[in-house]
Amino acid sequence: MTGSPDFIDANIERIRGNISEACARAGRAPDEVRLMAVTKTVDPELVNRAIAQGIDLLGENRVQEFLSKKDSYDKSAEVHIIGHLQTNKVKYIINDVSMIQSVDSERLLAEISRLAVKNGRTMDILCEVNIGGEDSKSGVSPDELRPLLEAAANTEGVRLRGLMTIPPPTDSDIFLGRMKELYDRLSESFPMDVLSMGMTHDYAAAVLHGSTLVRVGTGLFGARSYPAKA
Ligand SMILES: *Cc1c(COP(=O)(O)O)cnc(C)c1O
Repeated sequence: MTGSPDFIDANIERIRGNISEACARAGRAPDEVRLMAVTKTVDPELVNRAIAQGIDLLGENRVQEFLSKKDSYDKSAEVHIIGHLQTNKVKYIINDVSMIQSVDSERLLAEISRLAVKNGRTMDILCEVNIGGEDSKSGVSPDELRPLLEAAANTEGVRLRGLMTIPPPTDSDIFLGRMKELYDRLSESFPMDVLSMGMTHDYAAAVLHGSTLVRVGTGLFGARSYPAKA
């Protein structure tokens, strides 16, 4: 990596400004929304620069990549898994992350539970919802969500915190709204406090629709060498 990482400081400032503005428009307090830095393909040096500028939450997509980078990260930031997680990889990350946002099956839930209990901890989780019903995306359909939440609420070693989604890139406004309705409806049965939605292209819209955690990669660090993938 060559050149000065100053651009990251400016990006963080701009994104925080946009989040505050969206909060003001929605009548929400700016501290109701957490900004996550999504680190896929990003040099640890740049990730640490973001941490030095106040970023306290990192999002990791790929277990292998995370394992190769984690020792270089400044330890003051929390790490969440946001990419599709294979059951046989949970063992590699169970003690290094504070939340798994991409829970999409009872099988994965059971493995997280088994390893959390074994390691004497409780893992915070979000259930991932494929709100647009897209074949290319992981996550459960809105119809499959209630049974998964029921399982999560009754599983030892995991604490259900909320929902995560990647809406379709087109009509994302409609799907962000649908996601918030689903979240509010299910919150009546399951206590939840995290609604993770919004990426570089739609984080301001997501905040208007009630997101409590936005996941930004490109807008912070610049374009990636490979495309975003769930
Ligand atoms: C890559 C990724 C993001 C960030 O996407 P950008 O468009 O680069 O901001 C957010 N969430 C998930 C699950 C991702 O895989």
